[in-house]
Amino acid sequence: MGRAFVYVILGGGVAAGYAALEFTKKGVSPGELCIISEETVPPYERPALSKGYLLPEAPARLPSFHTCVGANEERLTPKWYKEHGIELILGTRVKSVDVRRKTLLTAVGETISYKILIIATGARALKLEEFGVSGSDAENVCYLRDLADANRVVDVMQSCASGNAVVIGGGYIGMECAASLVTNRINVTMVFPEVHCMARLFTPKIASYYEGYYNSKGVRFVKGTVLSSFEIDPIGKVTAVNLRDGSQLPADMVVVGIGIRPNTSLFEGQLTLEKGGIKVNGRMQTSNTSVYAVGDVAAFPVKLFGETRRLEHVDSARKTAKHAVAAIMEPEKTDEFDYLPFFYSRFFTFSWQFYGDNAGEVVHFGDYSGNTIGAYWISKGHLVGSFLEGGTKEEYEALAKTTRLKPAIDDITELERQGLGFAVTV
Ligand code: FAD
Repeated sequence: MGRAFVYVILGGGVAAGYAALEFTKKGVSPGELCIISEETVPPYERPALSKGYLLPEAPARLPSFHTCVGANEERLTPKWYKEHGIELILGTRVKSVDVRRKTLLTAVGETISYKILIIATGARALKLEEFGVSGSDAENVCYLRDLADANRVVDVMQSCASGNAVVIGGGYIGMECAASLVTNRINVTMVFPEVHCMARLFTPKIASYYEGYYNSKGVRFVKGTVLSSFEIDPIGKVTAVNLRDGSQLPADMVVVGIGIRPNTSLFEGQLTLEKGGIKVNGRMQTSNTSVYAVGDVAAFPVKLFGETRRLEHVDSARKTAKHAVAAIMEPEKTDEFDYLPFFYSRFFTFSWQFYGDNAGEVVHFGDYSGNTIGAYWISKGHLVGSFLEGGTKEEYEALAKTTRLKPAIDDITELERQGLGFAVTV
């Protein structure tokens, strides 16, 4: 038993949705394209799961955040896919792929063949078990990657009103979840091994700005240590977490956000891998010319920095997806991908954006006791990265434009004095 398509997108997340929209813009014919996804719903804007989805009042629910509303484009509902003759094979895991034969085998035993495959399998949340801690299957321990996880967070949160939550991990999932939990009137303690939150991106000064606000909202930070085990009651619920520093925290629920691992396993030994992902060229093409990779799973050349990177951010998922489709459908009109890394997050009433690379020396600007804070990163005499909290659309655009230009910086003190004004006037 089997079906054949010209184009198959493996995975039904953010990148898949943006790729589908681009296919229709480039004139795909009905019946040519299929999306196969383990998830039971069509592509949606995954970042909503740790933000609007967890609000106590008027929470975001599907179908409101199907792709591509996150980029102010059309909202692709099940009806849209039907109208465009795009086959959605949902709730279906692909268990093996043969890139030489150009076939995929699903968990229900169907063989699907393709002429061109786009890998958009994203990533999965790392489990505590991978760090030697057991207990992830306890009913009040939550992860957050997909809709099922988000529903679980909501259920568990509702069952522990005014209780204690321990958030494991100080990255953006931890920070966004902690804010949502507080908004749901839950007491939060965050635990992470680094010296401050968002350690991969924030400087100590930026981190302290946000941590101060979290403290004012009652969030406690336990830094420099990790979870070592859970106390679990006879009905299988975690009641406390034990930390490696010997302390114990009471817990009515636990949210774990300790990083992700790209879903590459179907292609190991078949395609070239790099930086933990599937290596692609500037056309998003893998080491097999009939196979493309996009989104979190793709390691692609970032021209601006002259190196291959794998980015775990929604903007890169959207743009790599669009670029792959353009390269497939209009090869002669499509140049090498030229991307400015961009990442944002929102928690409480904060909203920040980051562009470029956080390498080299840092220049902070703005009012760290007020509402607008920012920073530039200077590497080898050039501005390579920028960060801004609470900017306007025009200010963010100016920051992106300036960062892409990588202007030479001769006088760091002058840059510090000009602050945001530097980007706005470049
Ligand atoms: P995904 O969206 O993860 O989609 C992968 C898809 O592949 C899934 O549907 C999965 O089920 C499917 N799949 C995988 N393996 C198989 C298989 N074998 N068979 C069938 N289907 C399979 N980024 C930001 O820049 N800013 C944010 O504020 C932000 N917030 C986020 C909040 C949360 C809670 C999460 C989880 C992520 C957030 N991100 C954010 C990151 C962003 O969502 C990802 O970068 C983006 O979703 C990557 O898109 P993707 O299509 O590559 O992967």
